[in-house]
Amino acid sequence: MTEKVFLKDSYIKSADAIFQKADDSGLVFDKTIFYATGGGQPNDTGTIKWNGSDLRVIDVTKKDDDVFHRIEGDVKLSPGDRCHMEIDWNRRYSHMRYHTAIHIIDAVVHHNPENFGLITGSQIYQDRARVDFDFQDFTREIAQKIIDEANRIISEGHPVKILELDQAKALSIEGLARTVPGRELLKRLDVVRVIEIEGVDMQADGGTHVNNTREVGTLKLSGIESKGRRNKRLNITLS
Ligand SMILES: [Zn+2]
Repeated sequence: MTEKVFLKDSYIKSADAIFQKADDSGLVFDKTIFYATGGGQPNDTGTIKWNGSDLRVIDVTKKDDDVFHRIEGDVKLSPGDRCHMEIDWNRRYSHMRYHTAIHIIDAVVHHNPENFGLITGSQIYQDRARVDFDFQDFTREIAQKIIDEANRIISEGHPVKILELDQAKALSIEGLARTVPGRELLKRLDVVRVIEIEGVDMQADGGTHVNNTREVGTLKLSGIESKGRRNKRLNITLS
């Protein structure tokens, strides 16, 4: 099992790790600071220093409890080898800002009395993100209203905290998991990692986020798309 360092502290940019094993998916270490693709957040990239050479990490994936680091070129590490990991921080930090922005948008939609529909998915890129809604009468005006409200919350400077709740406590909080698969997953976890944006929102989540909403920056609406009668898409950028 790979210890995922970023779950407790998303700001760690470098760390030592011990090589354990490898297969076609890549190298596995005792712990990692590299985020594996999942939950709409892309994998980290970066470098692993080993034996005087810099190994370039080009993809990171999860399988069971292990994290696999795909390396450019061929290398032969031995179990027990000590390595030094460094992530590409600009890419990761951008993902953290977008991920936090999506939580805030989700909170605006979820807690709005006008019933703004339901978020069904999201995808983060380094320079933009999209949020998908189940929302029949979605208009650019409504989208702008959501963005304006999200920007107001961002500028208030709410602390963003990582909590670990036991399952019973997690299940007692309304809206902690907002999708059917999310709620099913919650029932299988003894300890649930929760991202709390103080005074704004709580969500069960495995991603990386900033420590304060002010770090998100300014949200801009770049457009809306209709992907079907109820399936609508919101495209955003940050500056
Ligand atoms: Zn998140």
